Amino acid sequence: MIAENVKKALAEIAGGNPFGEKITLVAATKTRTPDEINEAIAAGVCDIGENKVQEFTQKFDDVHGANRHFIGHLQTNKVKYLIGKTYLIHSLDRFELADELQKRAEKADWTANCLLEVNIGSELSKSGFSLDGVQDAYKKLLAYPNIRIEGLMAMLPLSDDTALLTALCKKMRALFETLREKDGNVEFLSMGMSGDWRLCVENGSNMIRLGTSLFGPRRYPAAENHEG
Ligand SMILES: *Cc1c(COP(=O)(O)O)cnc(C)c1O
Repeated sequence: MIAENVKKALAEIAGGNPFGEKITLVAATKTRTPDEINEAIAAGVCDIGENKVQEFTQKFDDVHGANRHFIGHLQTNKVKYLIGKTYLIHSLDRFELADELQKRAEKADWTANCLLEVNIGSELSKSGFSLDGVQDAYKKLLAYPNIRIEGLMAMLPLSDDTALLTALCKKMRALFETLREKDGNVEFLSMGMSGDWRLCVENGSNMIRLGTSLFGPRRYPAAENHEG
């Protein structure tokens, strides 16, 4: 079933987005076993993303042959476990985190490739820079030699209001293009999950993070803390 879902998703994004860009599929693997993740990789997934450091670390050696992304909220005291291990961190959302990443990455002589997380819906429950604050944050982060900003990430609010979601995507796309014009490292706009990825791609996303639509419903153990 996983293999089938992966092949279907890959076929659907094979033509790229309407902006002529290739779309990268990141399998969101929280709660999935290494066997399930390896099945997805065997079916063609090249990028996988965890959103908790503990799961990232626990599964690291049992999963083979994919770029490792970190997509969840990242606590500063857990940064050390990701150093040298991530292909891309999607959730750079505050300077306190950037400071810790810079310090640890420099010590390891490694560069942390990151996306700036934008709280596009201005939701209290979500982290990220405000839409108005992103460009300023980006400029300040250029002074961090061991952090490379490769684009933007956002999670759309849960809503059925297609017009609203489309407008938010377009704002993200405009901001992405503004940054990309002056910075050749900027290439990813990570936006879209199982419920909204088609709308996101239609409006300019070139990286989607799919969990449920690849692996089926998540099986959370009772009373688990969902915090990153
Ligand atoms: C879980 C998760 C996803 C995937 O969510 P689905 O709705 O299962 O596709 C995407 N992005 C982040 C940051 C996640 O934590």
